[in-house]
Amino acid sequence: MKEVSRREFLKNAAATGAALAASAALLRPAAAETGVIRPPGALEKDEFLSRCIRCGRCGDACPSQAIMMFTEANGEKFSLKPGPGDDGTPIIFPRQKACNLCQKVDGEYLRCTEACPTGALTKLLKSEVTTKVKMGVARLDKNLCYSYNDRCCGVCLRACPFPGKALKSAMHEMPVVDPALCVGCGLCERSCIRYPQAIVVVADV
Ligand code: SF4
Ligand code: SF4
Repeated sequence: MKEVSRREFLKNAAATGAALAASAALLRPAAAETGVIRPPGALEKDEFLSRCIRCGRCGDACPSQAIMMFTEANGEKFSLKPGPGDDGTPIIFPRQKACNLCQKVDGEYLRCTEACPTGALTKLLKSEVTTKVKMGVARLDKNLCYSYNDRCCGVCLRACPFPGKALKSAMHEMPVVDPALCVGCGLCERSCIRYPQAIVVVADV
């Protein structure tokens, strides 16, 4: 079992960066299957779409700039077409920017949920993240993951805000997702150095 070398790491990071810049459509190859990832606290789909007034306050409030407003153009970048009513609603594309659950900012509440004027996002305390946030669930492709293919990587394990719980480490830093504990923040997907990435978040639908 070898470790991912610095050279290999840089090569993949460069490939990912180049891909980000050059062809956004290639960013998240599995996006078409992942569904729409909403900010934390989003109500069930129909209720969310009827309550959201597309004001963008959640996006403005996000310190990580993780929330974008869904348009055909930005959906196209991630191979995701807006469905009926999706246009102008908030969406997260973790490969570009993931939600860090407001870990690095002051305040008791998740800022997007605090900013939402309509309740389309339920106002949530940071202390409620593990019990009330379910943006999606991380899905691992073992065929792509370095740690399952004779290279010790572990980058996603170190990015997870719930290490040893949502993302556990098996031998040689092989990540193992616990779907019950994963909140779908996407920090693992954001950090994955493999291209195409070995771990993606699938919406909780
Ligand atoms: S919880 Fe915080 S970091 Fe996550 S999307 Fe909302 S405002 Fe952004
Ligand atoms: S703040 Fe609430 S109502 Fe405004 S876009 Fe975000 S989810 Fe929709």
